[in-house]
Amino acid sequence: MEEDAVWQSVLGEIELTVSRGNFVTWFKNTQVLRRDDSSMIIGVPNIFYKQQLESKFKPMIMELLAKNGLGEIALEFKTHTSTMPTKRPTNDDTEVVIMSESPKKTNREMFSGNGAPSLTHSYRQGLNDRYTFDSFIVGSGNEMAYAACQAIAQNPGTKYNPLFIYGGVGLGKTHLIQAVGNAVLANKKGSKVVYATSEQFVQEFLDAIRYKKITDFAGHYRNADVLIVDDMQFIAGKEKTQEEFFHTFNALHQANKQIIISSDKPPKSIPTLEERLRSRFEWGMIVDIGAPDFETRCAILQNKATQHNIVLDQPVVEFLANQVQTNIRELEGALNQLLAFCEMRNLTPDLSVVTGLFGTHRSRPRHMNAKQVVERTAKHFQISIEEILSPKRDKDIVFPRQIAMYLLRSELHLSFPKIAQELGRKDHTTAIHSVEKIEKELHFDNILKEHVKEIKEKLYA
Ligand code: ADP
Ligand code: MG
Repeated sequence: MEEDAVWQSVLGEIELTVSRGNFVTWFKNTQVLRRDDSSMIIGVPNIFYKQQLESKFKPMIMELLAKNGLGEIALEFKTHTSTMPTKRPTNDDTEVVIMSESPKKTNREMFSGNGAPSLTHSYRQGLNDRYTFDSFIVGSGNEMAYAACQAIAQNPGTKYNPLFIYGGVGLGKTHLIQAVGNAVLANKKGSKVVYATSEQFVQEFLDAIRYKKITDFAGHYRNADVLIVDDMQFIAGKEKTQEEFFHTFNALHQANKQIIISSDKPPKSIPTLEERLRSRFEWGMIVDIGAPDFETRCAILQNKATQHNIVLDQPVVEFLANQVQTNIRELEGALNQLLAFCEMRNLTPDLSVVTGLFGTHRSRPRHMNAKQVVERTAKHFQISIEEILSPKRDKDIVFPRQIAMYLLRSELHLSFPKIAQELGRKDHTTAIHSVEKIEKELHFDNILKEHVKEIKEKLYA
């Protein structure tokens, strides 16, 4: 059917109303299948679109139809096969050629050693099991991203490939995309889920070149069933790495493996992102994740408090939800600060305590940073900053260093590469081992517990 003028006009208005991510995802691939005086049938790519359009957008569409003189019409969505959501690469697509013609590597090299490259890390590295769908509160800012992630977790690699989620810091991107990884692993044992930040990808790529391990590197990423790359914006300007990522992307996409990408901005706004990567990202589904509304912030606070076995009064929750409005990480930080403050002084976290702690104006809670954590820890153990950051392996320096790493993870939720970097380490596996070691020992080592408690007291004082 040729383009329906009314529908085109409705689409035009929708485009002005919803975010670009939502428009591209939900509306760009719709078409009118049939229209008569009393009904209109819109073709959509599949049932997921149908559900989303019906539950989220129908009232808005009806309103716009009325505005265009179709107020009484019955609107229906139908799945329609020719309404393909995305362009998929076909066999004659150029990337096959690009891969095999790449002067540096042959296909055989890429998928080296009969598909079993010698790997040093496992296929669930980098995933934090705290990040699940269950612990994620759904609200108006994130429901679209949540729905897409859930659909992918149930059926990775089939639809919405790649999924590109973008939004500001601390809004739950990492949480959601890791939740997909965790769910895939839970649904299907033995799945290969690879999670990396783009910084990690860049670093590992450079190391692979330096140590001539490019085959292992490529194999690791290209054998994934689900590849999750977080904070894609950091790959901007890194041409060689983008090229490598492009090949990885193609290899996986060709094999119907799921790719999930997060970034702080949509592909078109990432400066110096290679055009061909940008267009790859636009093949799939692009969703944005927005700031949480007041109710969502309250629900998140209540939920986190419950995880600490504490029930907060509603006025306390509302006070905190008003204090921090845009960043969920900061919201959590404020709550942690309150709970630590109360625990140390044996107080109940009521309204007088929160107002005393955060003031009555809407000032943001003062936030500690990584440097303060490292300095505090060094000071507690009476060693110097230079020592804690040095390569020294003496026991009385290694121990404080491990605690500092643990605190950077537990209090600031830094990524392992970031933790390693804060302590002057190149290799983030040291950070992983240190954090795991301290976490384990905290269960039985009371002296360690005391140390950690004292440092935290000073940090939150
Ligand atoms: P981003 O990657 O977008 O910067 P994160 O995923 O790291 O944000 O989220 C920051 C913190 O807020 C994490 O501890 C995460 O668990 C929490 N968080 C974010 N969104 C939600 C949500 N909707 N429900 C529960 N916790 C959330
Ligand atoms: Mg993140």
